[in-house]
Amino acid sequence: MNPDSYSSRLLEAAVNEFSKLPGIGRKTALRLVLHLLRQDPQEVYSLGNSLIRLRDEIKHCKNCHSISDEEICNICTSPQRNSSLICVVESIRDVMAIENTRQFNGLYHVLGGIISPMEGVGPGDLSVESLEEKVAGGKVREVVLALSTTMEGDTTNFYLYRRLSKYPVDITAIARGIAIGDELEYADEVTLGRSIANRTIFNASFNNKE
Ligand SMILES: [Zn+2]
Repeated sequence: MNPDSYSSRLLEAAVNEFSKLPGIGRKTALRLVLHLLRQDPQEVYSLGNSLIRLRDEIKHCKNCHSISDEEICNICTSPQRNSSLICVVESIRDVMAIENTRQFNGLYHVLGGIISPMEGVGPGDLSVESLEEKVAGGKVREVVLALSTTMEGDTTNFYLYRRLSKYPVDITAIARGIAIGDELEYADEVTLGRSIANRTIFNASFNNKE
């Protein structure tokens, strides 16, 4: 099946595992595996253990769905954060990107993706229900929509706006300092920081009318 010839099945198995990772081809996988074999055994055990612990022990915050060591993450439990301000993002990587700007002191809500009919992702696949429950609870004063400025991002913004606008909450969207079509996680910190600082009231007329 594969054209490479390995003198060891253990080596081949390790290369197979590494080459399942995104962006890692079989050549790179072999290079990484041979590199590990040259390392001190302790280094390799520590890599292996950290992966197993990551898999076994990591949790998703029950409140914001971000990655956490505890049931509730340290952003959600921080008394310094404004819990009436919720920033809605696609993924955990976006939480990290916005945190790096140091421009936002509210809490997050990780949707787990955006609505994409092309990829078969509908609202039911995302954590929309728990966002609505949070807003319906009455303690949230502002929801900041911080999704990618793509068509899917716009569709999701519009969908969330329709779900949430019946509640007494301000719905804002990050300013479009980010180029149309760019994904949030690739934006530079200055642009992303400015976008979240200059967020504006969500205007549904920017989006497709039904
Ligand atoms: Zn959390």
